[in-house]
Amino acid sequence: MEYFDIPLKDELWQDFIILKNQSETFKDYKNYFKSLVNWVKSHKSHIECIHNRLLVINQLDTILEIKIEDYLTEGSGISLEMEAKRMFGRHPETLNSLLMRIGNTLWDLVRYNADKECPNCMDRELEYMLVEIIKTKKRKIILDCDLCGYSENLNGSKYTDGLATIHPVNERILLNHGVTRI
Ligand SMILES: [Zn+2]
Repeated sequence: MEYFDIPLKDELWQDFIILKNQSETFKDYKNYFKSLVNWVKSHKSHIECIHNRLLVINQLDTILEIKIEDYLTEGSGISLEMEAKRMFGRHPETLNSLLMRIGNTLWDLVRYNADKECPNCMDRELEYMLVEIIKTKKRKIILDCDLCGYSENLNGSKYTDGLATIHPVNERILLNHGVTRI
């Protein structure tokens, strides 16, 4: 069995959906973000002992560590009224599916759009991302398309630096890298 096929145990799911009934969870985007992060963090050792790649492949490793107060949370189309059903409604078959659902949502909550259309799929706005290139350890800001996976450098050339760890950005991180919003 591949690690992403590990079934989601019912007791873990029941523990997760407790969040749905806590009044803080849906108060606003920042509270929602914190509720999900705290839940994953409190189960991190359990998930890592199953397979630590699950956090990495769902891009949860970096996003769990940000201080949400420092980030824009515009929600990217997430409606908090719908989340009880979307996030907590259907029991995913695998642990990986649950982590993917959580990871995508956390990233959606902190998207920082660049106001430039993706030149590849022409269907989505590119967003700023901070990457740490694995080979060189160099950090830089790139533009990324969440829909088709296309990424480019700030000068418009295609991103070709290979594998990288990605981090969300905020105004301060952009400024520190000399970027003023396009
Ligand atoms: Zn695209």
